[in-house]
Order: sequence, then C-alpha cells, then structure tokens
Amino acid sequence: MPVSSAPASSNTHCQRCLLPAGVFLRDDFYPVGPQVLPDSLRVKQIELNPNGLCEYCNRYLQNYDVNWLEQELLGFLRALKASGQPLLLALSGGKDSLSCLFLLRHVLDIPVKAFTYDNGFLPTDVLEQTARICDALKTPWEVLKNPLYEAFQAEYIPDSQGRLIAQTGLDFCQICAGQVKNFLVQICERDGLRFVAFGNKTYTRLTPKVSCLKTLPTPQGGQLHMIHLLFALRTNTAQQAEILAELNWKDPGLGGYTSNCLVPGLVAAARKRQTGFASDAGYIEMEYRSGAYSADELRQMLHDHSDPEDLPLPADLFSQFSA
Ligand SMILES: [Zn+2]
Repeated sequence: MPVSSAPASSNTHCQRCLLPAGVFLRDDFYPVGPQVLPDSLRVKQIELNPNGLCEYCNRYLQNYDVNWLEQELLGFLRALKASGQPLLLALSGGKDSLSCLFLLRHVLDIPVKAFTYDNGFLPTDVLEQTARICDALKTPWEVLKNPLYEAFQAEYIPDSQGRLIAQTGLDFCQICAGQVKNFLVQICERDGLRFVAFGNKTYTRLTPKVSCLKTLPTPQGGQLHMIHLLFALRTNTAQQAEILAELNWKDPGLGGYTSNCLVPGLVAAARKRQTGFASDAGYIEMEYRSGAYSADELRQMLHDHSDPEDLPLPADLFSQFSA
C-alpha cells in the first residue's frame, strides 16, 4: 500500500513524520525487516505514544530550542574563525553539499577546502559538475577514489533474470559513510584542520537538545567538530532551489533518493525485496522531522520512493576497476 494512502490520523504511522508503527529501525533512521539479522544494539522497534507520535518526533518536539541551535552555529563559526584554518567540507557532489558550498563561500565568505570520496559509483557528469562549481566558488577540491565494487558484488548478486538480490539488506551507504569519516579524519590530521561541514538537512542528535553539531575524537587525542550545515541554517526547499539555479546545477536524474551516486537507485528494489521496506523512507522521514520540508512534500517524496523499480546495471560500471 503506498504510504500516501495512509491518512495522517492513522494509528499505523507516526502522525507527524509518517514512520510506520512496528517497523524496525537501524541506526535510528533506516527501516529493516525483523528477518534481517539485526545487530540488537543498533536496531529498535518503533512504537507510537498515546498521542500517535514516534519517539523521535516526541523527543524532537520536546528538545527543539531555536536559541540553542543558534548558539551552536555561532559558536562553531567563531571557533572556526579563531582557528585561522579553512573549513573542510564533505562534498558528495549531490545537491545538498553543493548548496552548502554556495552558502559557505558566497554568503558566509568562509574559506573552504572540499573533499569528495569517489566510491566508484559517482557518474562522470556529477564529478564534472562538482569540479565546475568548486572552480566557480574558488574552492580547492580533493577527490579520493576507492571503488567499492568488491563490496557491492558481495552484497548484490544478480539472479537469472538479472535482478539484484541483496544478501543482507543492510545499508550500503553506511559503508561509504564510514569511509568518508576515516578520510576526513586523515585529511584533518594531515592539514591541521579541526572543523568539518556536511550538507545534511538533519539533526545530529535529539538529546539533551536537538543539535546540529557532533564531535569526533581523533587518534591523536584531539577533536574534530562537525556541523550539519543545511540543518543549522534552516535552508528550506525554496531557498535551495534558488541556490541550485544560481549554480546552474543540473539534476543528474539518478534513481533512488540521491543526486550524486548510482548505488541507491541500483539497489532500492533489491533492498525492499530483502527487508520489506523502501530503504530511503527512513531518511526522508528524518529530514522531514528536522524541518527540511512540508508535510505535503513529505507525502510526495515517500510516495515517489515507496515502490522502487529494478534498474539495469550500467554495462561498463565495473570494467574500470582493477584490483
Ligand atoms: Zn515521527
């Protein structure tokens, strides 16, 4: 049943973010079926409270404090300026991180160094567009390519009809996120940087207050300070559309909920078969909860991503890979 056909008053979904009651969430945002061998520490089943809210919406509403978020943002920017160093931007080449780069350079006038992790699934036109925008915004850009083809082929195996079959159904994006984090730590150590921005429109945590920051310890005993910048700046959909038009950004038209990487579209149907859920939905619900867009936009996006199709693997995808 498409999510959009569930009325907002339904007791089967959170009344606010439409997270399905009873769904198992891993890492607080992506849905998995109970059959998917959950790591019990990182998987929890969602129940609705008597007001029909999931625990995340409940905590968000209780702990959201606009003054707190403003102080976090200002404190981050002040400490960055005092450091005399550029900000390191985790630039995926998708529309959120590119919007972030525009805001940092064009609006906030902050020196930025951009880093892109190329997992081997970033289309050439995405990389070319990213290069053009970095150039236009006078931002040094470093790309590190480390193809994840072997990991992909271990998790996704084609059946006799050429449809991919997921072996575990766990989120491949988590592998990339871990790689990105490791590379960011290495670059910060190499270049003496301590402040990192991500393009995310989501909070970093919900307690004790809804936050846009997180801190990561480094192997040397230092700390990296990270910010989810679009969330911190409360950039709405209309503002982002203006930014993207200003950048002359072209949508690469990829499947799945992404604007930079082939993987989410290629695997969405396989993951739904394995887990029973459209895997992008949990993140869309988290973005909505974070104020990224309207309830109507939420329903439309959940509808658009609820029933993914199998896409053909690009014929030459793995041919560039030499181990
Ligand atoms: Zn909710």
